Amino acid sequence: MPKKKIQPLNEVKPLRESLLTPRPISEDEKIFLPSLRPRKFAEFIGQREIVERLKIFISAAQKRSESLDHSLLLGPPGLGKTTLATVISAEMGVQIRITSGPVLTRPGDVAALLSGLKAGDVLFIDEIHRLGKSVEEILYPAMEDYHFDVLIGKGPTARSLRMKVPPFTLIGATTREGDVAAPLRSRFGVILRIDYYSNDELTELIHSVSKRLNFPIMKDAALEISRRARGTPRVAIRLFKRMRDIAQVESRPSVDLDVVEKGMEMLKIDRLGLDYIDRGFIARTSRGRIATQKGFEYLGLKPHQQKNLANQPRLFEQ
Ligand code: ADP
Repeated sequence: MPKKKIQPLNEVKPLRESLLTPRPISEDEKIFLPSLRPRKFAEFIGQREIVERLKIFISAAQKRSESLDHSLLLGPPGLGKTTLATVISAEMGVQIRITSGPVLTRPGDVAALLSGLKAGDVLFIDEIHRLGKSVEEILYPAMEDYHFDVLIGKGPTARSLRMKVPPFTLIGATTREGDVAAPLRSRFGVILRIDYYSNDELTELIHSVSKRLNFPIMKDAALEISRRARGTPRVAIRLFKRMRDIAQVESRPSVDLDVVEKGMEMLKIDRLGLDYIDRGFIARTSRGRIATQKGFEYLGLKPHQQKNLANQPRLFEQ
């Protein structure tokens, strides 16, 4: 049998480019695509309680010259989990590596990521509930004791090598809190739940995006967009951009209420901010609107819960 080549320690597979989402931004992109992501807490809108807590944790960690505790960010998509991780790393003055659960398929992927970290760095794993078991098992000792074991070779010649990791901060984000494995969850020192934004906060966000993109918006128009953005910054930004398209095509100097009314009608977004795809998740019944089977699946609820809900006696009949 041919002898298996043992992979030396310093030859852990080089990081695949696709594992990390960020890449150097070209000069062209810098000119045409100003970043809309806040870089510091001062630019981060809303979530006051979370921000205040993080500021305390960060300044305490800095005073002790330690890395920040591993943190888990919970909340629906588009509410600013990635943004918050970026802000944390900027405030800590460290680098951030951004990746996500579904792309970290092999233990070697995590091993390569971990060995590339410098002291204090932030490793951000989006959709952390989608990590595989073997990948999670590498992460556990890395999070707790800053080392991990890699298995080298196969069969009787296989041996385990222990590798050290500098103290780092793992920031995990998930839209599905219930799917995070208990042993993983328990290794996070800080757990933060990001909530939907108020209309006022979204209005503030829209005005700041309008300034950054250098295209004005009227106050009432910004408020109307925020009302239809379902409490979600990503939706608010996307809607503002579409309204700007319409204003520009019509050679208007700003986004006004008329543009918004027209634009929402064009995009078929109703006053609750639901578009036709959302409405496909909802059925009109004699008891009002209820979620369809697809709607339940989208929300990550088991279909049988739908039946239970439908059969539930109503406490207060009107
Ligand atoms: P998530 O990771 O939760 O899906 P992101 O961090 O990608 O959400 O945020 C979506 C968009 O909304 C980004 O473009 C970001 O700039 C913007 N955004 C989110 N939260 C805020 C906030 N609190 N202040 C300003 N902009 C925000």
